[in-house]
Amino acid sequence: MKLSIELYKLELLFDELNNHFFDGELNSPVITIQLDAYAAGWCDGVIRRWRNRQGGRFAEIGVNPKLLCRPFSEVAEVMLHEMIHLFIFQNNLSDGSHDKTFKECSEAHGLIVTQAGKQSYKRTDLSATTAEWVKEKFPSEKFDIYMYGWEDGWKSRMDEAGKEYNGT
Ligand SMILES: [Zn+2]
Repeated sequence: MKLSIELYKLELLFDELNNHFFDGELNSPVITIQLDAYAAGWCDGVIRRWRNRQGGRFAEIGVNPKLLCRPFSEVAEVMLHEMIHLFIFQNNLSDGSHDKTFKECSEAHGLIVTQAGKQSYKRTDLSATTAEWVKEKFPSEKFDIYMYGWEDGWKSRMDEAGKEYNGT
């Protein structure tokens, strides 16, 4: 079992979403697969800890390995959600919270937003059109390996914990 194959699928997913929803304008982040107690994904677009030897700095999008057992559309939703954060960081539109700016950007880029508590718009889903697009673009895509734990879902766990962090 090679994790690199799963990672490549995430990179491909990022590229396709970037081309389709952002005209390819998002700078490529380093995509990682890392365990977190509650977050399905996160985006560090401020500190940008990743560097290359030429002095470049890169954002990071992390994906929880437990998410990889879920339907591909759910992984796509988390990726797109984190890409909205990246878009906001890259264009200095807001501080990374799930505020009104996040809501507006999400709705402009293929997501549906449900309010989750006061002034929080962290809960997103793919719009029907986006879900259709994902299905057409990645007809039989799935992740072959994953970390166990979220087979029965994850959104309700996160709602209970009130947790989902992005940026740092
Ligand atoms: Zn978020």
